[in-house]
Amino acid sequence: MYKIASTETMKKVMGDYFKSLGSGDNKVAWCTSVGPAELLRSFGFEVYFPENHGALLGATRSAMDYIPEAVKCGYSGHVCSYTTADIGSYLKGETPLSKHYGMAGAPKPDLIAYNTNQCREVQDWFGFFAKEFGCPIVGIQPPRHVDQTSQEEVDLVVAQFKRMIPACENASGSKFDIDRFREVVRLSKEATLLWQKVLKTSTAPIAPISFFDGTIHMGPIVVLRGTQVAKDYYANLLEELEQNLAQGKGFLPKAKTRIFWEGMPIWGKLRMLSDLFADNAAAVVASTYCSSWVFDQFDERDPFESTARAYTDIFINRSEKAKMDMLANWFVEYGIDGIVYHDSKTCFNNSNAKFGMPQRLRDRTGVPALVIEGDLCDLRFFSEGQSTTKIETFLEQLEDQKSAVI
Ligand code: SF4
Repeated sequence: MYKIASTETMKKVMGDYFKSLGSGDNKVAWCTSVGPAELLRSFGFEVYFPENHGALLGATRSAMDYIPEAVKCGYSGHVCSYTTADIGSYLKGETPLSKHYGMAGAPKPDLIAYNTNQCREVQDWFGFFAKEFGCPIVGIQPPRHVDQTSQEEVDLVVAQFKRMIPACENASGSKFDIDRFREVVRLSKEATLLWQKVLKTSTAPIAPISFFDGTIHMGPIVVLRGTQVAKDYYANLLEELEQNLAQGKGFLPKAKTRIFWEGMPIWGKLRMLSDLFADNAAAVVASTYCSSWVFDQFDERDPFESTARAYTDIFINRSEKAKMDMLANWFVEYGIDGIVYHDSKTCFNNSNAKFGMPQRLRDRTGVPALVIEGDLCDLRFFSEGQSTTKIETFLEQLEDQKSAVI
């Protein structure tokens, strides 16, 4: 059975990260997952990511115990289930962090920072905690759904980054140091380029890392980017995957079809979906989700402009045209036979199947598409039976089409 040995190292890396957050030794900043982590880290903050906690609540299937708590205090059950599960978990005073890492709860923030490049929901979510903890909050609001980001737009975001500095100085007790910022951006860039290479190993015919593996191994690039630890982790993971490639080892050596996953993971059903695709000889080799932490524009020589540009240019913040161009390129690069869109009930922002894009992209590329309904955390919106039937039928059709062409 194919296993990625680095998984054990990854568990230790993530365990050490959570224990350092819980130690209380350093100031803590909360940050959105594609927020200004490098700037925060340059002030010496430990950086905590509530979305990572949301994913943990989804993966442990405890989210459904907590969402009703948030609903009781006025949040709709139809808004971002990371938000409602995380707020509900706080209100109930329970978290899987206790069982897994011995933490009493999320670390108390000294500063909260968000970037609405992904969605405006994070502003409401983080605003709730800023009030609860009586903590300063700073936000970046870049232009949304950009086609090509203009210099004027980048300048606007740079100014917003710079406006964060006094709040960071006050909360951290440290003066801004441009050289430290450059160093963090350099480390972040090196880790993100390694992560990109990790993902691209699966352009090979026998792919060594699946989308489902990727959702696990992306932990350090989300929570530890800008550190040597993350860089070392991805250097080792890449070395292992390249060795596997050289030996012809992969997660599904006899795959009949190659699939692209679009949209959020369904955290509580990763194993079920991974087995379902594997049982149908379909290798899910790439995704927009895992690729969202590739910031190849980072440049320590121009840390403000390059981070502002990279965080504004992320997939979720692009126009339909830009998204279709990116997807069409990935289809070619990864040799994709079909794309599965996860239309997530509570994440409107990261669901691209609501306004006809699957049809338009299929017409343009010829790559067949399937839309399944579900949710990132709230499994009441996911029907395992219906989705299994839809996926199996889709995969059969793909195989038939491929054999007809051959
Ligand atoms: S992008 Fe979606 S899942 Fe992520 S915080 Fe925003 S609404 Fe929630």
